[in-house]
Amino acid sequence: MRALVIGAGIAGLAAAGALARGGWEVEILEARTQRPEHQGMADLFGAGYDALEAIGLLPAASARSSTPFRIELQHPDGRPGPGYPTARFYGAFGGRHLSLPAADLEALLEDALPPTVRLRRGCAPERLEADDGGTAAWLPDGGCVRADVLVGADGLGSAVRRTFFGPDAECVRDLGLRVADVSVHAPGLVQELRGRGLVADGIGRTVQLCGLPDGRAMGAFIEHSAAAARPGRPDTDAGTFLDAFTGLAPATDSLLGLLQKSPALHQPAVPDSTAPDPTALGPASAGEPEAVAAAVVELPRWSTGRVVLIGDAACAVSFVSSQEAGLALAGGAFLGAALARTRAPEQVPGALAEFERRWRPTVRGPQRLVKRYAHKAVPRTRMNLLDRRFALRVLSVPGIARASARQLLGPIRGPVN
Ligand SMILES: Cc1cc2nc3c(=O)[nH]c(=O)nc-3n(C[C@H](O)[C@H](O)[C@H](O)COP(=O)(O)OP(=O)(O)OC[C@H]3O[C@@H](n4cnc5c(N)ncnc54)[C@H](O)[C@@H]3O)c2cc1C
Repeated sequence: MRALVIGAGIAGLAAAGALARGGWEVEILEARTQRPEHQGMADLFGAGYDALEAIGLLPAASARSSTPFRIELQHPDGRPGPGYPTARFYGAFGGRHLSLPAADLEALLEDALPPTVRLRRGCAPERLEADDGGTAAWLPDGGCVRADVLVGADGLGSAVRRTFFGPDAECVRDLGLRVADVSVHAPGLVQELRGRGLVADGIGRTVQLCGLPDGRAMGAFIEHSAAAARPGRPDTDAGTFLDAFTGLAPATDSLLGLLQKSPALHQPAVPDSTAPDPTALGPASAGEPEAVAAAVVELPRWSTGRVVLIGDAACAVSFVSSQEAGLALAGGAFLGAALARTRAPEQVPGALAEFERRWRPTVRGPQRLVKRYAHKAVPRTRMNLLDRRFALRVLSVPGIARASARQLLGPIRGPVN
């Protein structure tokens, strides 16, 4: 049996690995020539943590884990504000939690792929087709890849979804937030953080900053924005987006200062008129951060015939949930394991239906919570700002931290295989 996976993000790599380990022939097409430099953190607990353990990557991922020991507000004049020890919050998961850069998780998953998997980077299909006899992807060089199953793991702006499941307007729900994740080598700043994660916020904007043991500082710059955006695509150049965050706190200004030195930063965003064909996504630059929309994807079905969607393409829960990477990992691995049990193409639709029946409840809870709480991710009024400071203080109370973790992150278990 043969699978073609579109997209080498967390979900695609997890599915490809599980399929190949189950004896399938697997090919992955990835639009980007290299993994992006600027990606956020992957928080793994519940189903995501369980999946990592089942794949055997827990020790390697734990070695790269860097959860800040404390989350703390920094005021614009540099004074420390309220905060809480993260162990109290994550204590809700009984120690089964880790947080590592999403790029590092992707690297671990890619390195763990069986050697039989073919991964082609800088290669986005120009045309996709599927019928009862199989699936086909036509490539820019005129080649064609045929497979028994086509797995769409191509993220929020999925071309596979648009081709087989309908337009974005019918399934992508914009949450009115834009985020740009950045990662910069900044050992001085990391030393200043001393293992803490910092939050800096103003009305309409918030930044979360943490340091990694290898000297990188990671920042998530989040803005409230009512503007419509194309999912998964930058709607402004990253430089202009990030400029609006100046002055929130000295630590985040230091990070912005280091970023401004990057020549990639003020590249213009891709104008709409040059948007690629809906079934193809040209290779994106790996070096510049992107400001992207937070969105939830809700589809009545994730599979049709021999085509199936996973990860953000199928059921994005947005970064607001802190579960997106974990659900992409666990969902990809779960789909791969379900398909790998099939022995003939006729069994594929049944396996896909079973995958969906068992996996959908795991995603439903986080999606519901995100739709309910997304508006709280960024303060919009002075009262919201004060509320957030109060929340940071209250989270230092042990029982409240655990209860909040359960309430905010919801029921987080899911089937592993
Ligand atoms: C700015 C930002 C911040 C985030 N912060 C967090 C966080 O703090 N915690 C958390 O858990 N999650 C976070 N996430 C989410 C998390 O990174 C993603 O949800 C998770 O990586 C989803 O994985 P995926 O494999 O489904 O999709 P993606 O990671 O989007 O991977 C899709 C892949 O498909 C490729 N692709 C797209 N189109 C094509 C095509 N036509 N042909 C070939 N390849 C294609 C893309 O280049 C990409 O490599 C964040 C996401 C973003 C964008």
